[in-house]
Amino acid sequence: MSQSFTPIASLGEFGLIDRMNERLADVPRSENLIEGIGDDAAVYRAGDGMLHVVTTDVLIEGVHFDRTFIPTSFLGWKAIAVNVSDVVAMNARPLYATVSAGLPRNFSIEMMDGLYDGMAEACKAYGLELVGGDTSTAHALYLSITVIGEVAEEDVVFRRGASVGDYLCMSGDVGGAFAGLKVLLDQREQLENMGESYEPDLDAFQYVIQRQLRPNARLDIINALRDAGVRPTSMIDISDGLASEVHHIGRRSDVGATVRIPAVPFDPETRAVADQFLDEIDAYALFGGEDYELLFTVREEDVPKIDETEGVSVIGTIEEAKKGVRAYSPETGLMPLHPAGYEHFGEAPQPGAHASQDGPGFDETDFSGDGA
Ligand SMILES: [Mg+2]
Repeated sequence: MSQSFTPIASLGEFGLIDRMNERLADVPRSENLIEGIGDDAAVYRAGDGMLHVVTTDVLIEGVHFDRTFIPTSFLGWKAIAVNVSDVVAMNARPLYATVSAGLPRNFSIEMMDGLYDGMAEACKAYGLELVGGDTSTAHALYLSITVIGEVAEEDVVFRRGASVGDYLCMSGDVGGAFAGLKVLLDQREQLENMGESYEPDLDAFQYVIQRQLRPNARLDIINALRDAGVRPTSMIDISDGLASEVHHIGRRSDVGATVRIPAVPFDPETRAVADQFLDEIDAYALFGGEDYELLFTVREEDVPKIDETEGVSVIGTIEEAKKGVRAYSPETGLMPLHPAGYEHFGEAPQPGAHASQDGPGFDETDFSGDGA
């Protein structure tokens, strides 16, 4: 008797989500459900004109993080922050979290204290409460966090709302988390090569290391946009890399986009790391993941308000779907922009990384001309 075995990796992330939806197609759908699988969070009516949003994320040792790099308090913070980031990407504010933790035998009480101190700090910073969960022994440290948030029905923002003529915007800067990962991986290699005598020099790279180990969900940005009177037409958080997220908005909104490379902000420290490793800064900014900034679109009439709002930049325009997702720079002109970010299940996971350890990169063939 033969049974076929098809590796999950052969599906890719989009294929995997489509496949899950196929299996679930017969489950009756509540009329209160507004958005199911396919956005940053699920959305349902909670009564009185309010919506609830729900998101869940796992962090697994050896897949998403390397415990030798990250203090457990930072890990606790990050586990909450990455979920809050998905709630914020729906223009919602976080309310409650539950945490399930798988704890390996080599995990100490002191580490556990650090983990929950970090989660408590993040809960205070983002104004949510940790209200339950589960613990179990596990082969590696495992955290599964669910966050519930709320938003008024008229304020919710999906990935699917962008239209032709909108402007593409983002908060903060990108590429820093990937630069931080490069530094940490390099320091670990040096440590392995030189042993105890090696003294890590991390002072010069505080910003990028913090971007990697203790990212910030941009709850402040959705508040600033509301204060400025701007409601984005679509939004997503930048977890897998800017280029990949532009593709997600394009796919869900049925539009194309042009990203103006010189307009994409990066920190000078990110540039210093790219220079040190002889890498392209543009590749860090476009394909480096885990920055947890917000990518969003606004109507043309809101652009002056965006210009006056601190911490946000206009980086491109939304165009017809047939033009695809493109990048523009004065040196190269218009080129198709490949997602090229890490696809979960699409390749072997790297410790501590969503992005490839070898560095994100332009796909040369995809960049050779205007393929629109
Ligand atoms: Mg997301």
